[in-house]
Amino acid sequence: MTFNFKKYFDEVLFVPLGGTDEIGTNLYLYHYKGKWLIVDMGLGFAGDYFPGVEIIVPDITFLQSIKKDIVGLVITHAHEDHIGAIQYLWPEVKVPIYATKFSAAIIKTKLADVGIQNDVTLKEVRANSKFEVGPFSLEYVSLTHSVPEMQGLIIRTEKGNVFHSGDWKFDHNPLIGAHSDLEKLKKLGDEGVLAMICDSTNIFTEGRAGSEGDLKDSLRNLIATFKNEMVVITTFASNIARLYSLMEAAKSVKRKVVLSGTSLWRMYNAAVECGYLSDVDAPIHPKQSGKLKRSETLVIATGCQGERFASIAKLARNEHPDIKLSRGDKVIFASKIIPGNDKKIFAMFNKFCKAGIDVLTEKDHFVHVSGHPCRDELEEMYKLVRPKYAIPMHGEPMHTHEHCHFVKEKKLGLPIQIENGSVTLITGEKTEVITKVVTGNMAIDGNFVLPSDSEILRLRRRMRDEGLAVVSVVYDKKGMVNGPEVLAPGVMDSSDDAEYFDQLKSELTQFLSTANFKTLKEVESKISGITKRFFKREIGKEPKILVQLIKINS
Ligand SMILES: [Zn+2]
Ligand SMILES: [Zn+2]
Repeated sequence: MTFNFKKYFDEVLFVPLGGTDEIGTNLYLYHYKGKWLIVDMGLGFAGDYFPGVEIIVPDITFLQSIKKDIVGLVITHAHEDHIGAIQYLWPEVKVPIYATKFSAAIIKTKLADVGIQNDVTLKEVRANSKFEVGPFSLEYVSLTHSVPEMQGLIIRTEKGNVFHSGDWKFDHNPLIGAHSDLEKLKKLGDEGVLAMICDSTNIFTEGRAGSEGDLKDSLRNLIATFKNEMVVITTFASNIARLYSLMEAAKSVKRKVVLSGTSLWRMYNAAVECGYLSDVDAPIHPKQSGKLKRSETLVIATGCQGERFASIAKLARNEHPDIKLSRGDKVIFASKIIPGNDKKIFAMFNKFCKAGIDVLTEKDHFVHVSGHPCRDELEEMYKLVRPKYAIPMHGEPMHTHEHCHFVKEKKLGLPIQIENGSVTLITGEKTEVITKVVTGNMAIDGNFVLPSDSEILRLRRRMRDEGLAVVSVVYDKKGMVNGPEVLAPGVMDSSDDAEYFDQLKSELTQFLSTANFKTLKEVESKISGITKRFFKREIGKEPKILVQLIKINS
């Protein structure tokens, strides 16, 4: 039986479709007066469960069921895990998008990539301002993060106020963009907050995340120690403050900045369009960098998380078309290793080290600060906002669970642990999970969006793990004419394992020579059974078996 949402027409409901079982694929829903508001629409990186797939997005089964009542999509900030799914999922909902100038500039370029920029209503909202979307009375709150114009979201209703923190930290010197509006947070606390939905990423880290301003000198001093070598640095492309620090550092040590990678140029251009980075020298494209001396070059490259086709991976493979590294050059990873990406990143470290290139990371140098709040900042936020209920998000279950412990231990509110799909009724009397809706992930597979349990992905997983066997038989009205032919890619080698092939063919022929081709289904299932038993018995594998019965008229 489907859940009766009509019964809750006037109530505030919160439903995460992604972002509370993982760090990534953020997509949150709020309900009030029978209408729904989406907050963020992000992507995640695919794991082993999605062979051949790099990107995943949240399952939209539930979104489709409430489609006619969705009034808008509000964006907190321009990180991929918050905006990266728009280009794939927006056509399913077709609602206006609300974002600040910088976030809108990035979203526009991504919509243009798929040719839907003219279909989408993209409304620019001033940072730190109030706006209305359907029955939702909203207000952005400027917070510092690792991208400009990060906005927390106040949702005011007759039932009470909800504060959706987005991703944030309290950076006393963010270098680029506004400071966190602590005054507004305190006033919100005075006004009263029923529930705060808050970032859990760094719940296991004591202290504070640190400031981009403090990092600036450290980066400059490190780069200044290198003389004749080329210096390459990779960081998150969206961290405009970090780009600014590196551009300033380059200028002070008389190096020119070469930006390598599409997403860096996309971010740089959007930043300039929005009035940031106006006081630093324009960077150079790698194609124009040929005349620069190695000692005069600072390359900023994309791909700090090991993305296969990003610039830093090409440099590691020595496949970059315009930049070649030499023994003694320095590669700095000004980033954190996001769990799950470690194997790919270590493989790059090893490639560089094999070529005699030095790798420097946050483990041995002060080259990175996180964009998410650590425990002291979280405590400060709770003491400003003073919510009755604390609902952790932006974390894996281990993060949201620890976040609940933290809130309870420090007496910062009543914690409620939820997971993707938890329909959470937010009321002054009792905030609780009242039901679950369908959640999961969908794979971006080339130009297709596939559910994770689709036949294509199931088959691909099976082929990856067990291989494939194809049996082809040509028949006419009298019976088998030709065959059987057997192929087993990824299971047996056609020349080395010829004996096995012969044996299987002979077992199949024994059956096929007397088979009745009037009952095709039976023939197919018998071939399948013989082949399956053969592989299990002879080589201990269970490949996916495909049977082709080809009829000729003679
Ligand atoms: Zn995020
Ligand atoms: Zn973020």
